[in-house]
Amino acid sequence: MPLYDFRCPAGHGTEASFAMAERPDDIACAVCGETSRRRMPSPRLSIAGSAAFGLLESTQRSAHEPEVISSSNPGVRPPTPTTSNPLHRKLPRP
Ligand SMILES: [Zn+2]
Repeated sequence: MPLYDFRCPAGHGTEASFAMAERPDDIACAVCGETSRRRMPSPRLSIAGSAAFGLLESTQRSAHEPEVISSSNPGVRPPTPTTSNPLHRKLPRP
């Protein structure tokens, strides 16, 4: 969900996240309770498409859509044998 910036007449800034269809034009200020008007969003063109922008998106998305993993340790592969010589199987193991 997009993040909207609101500002009251006293200058207090408030950010709130709403679905695009449900975004209000004004909300109550969190500091003074006055009506805060929605401001025009900045386009964030300088970081769009960058790794930092991807991190911001995934962080915001994880708040309401946690990532589902298939195993308890997805990044670790099972150990592979270091030798294929059958005589090495007879050696003592630690
Ligand atoms: Zn205020």
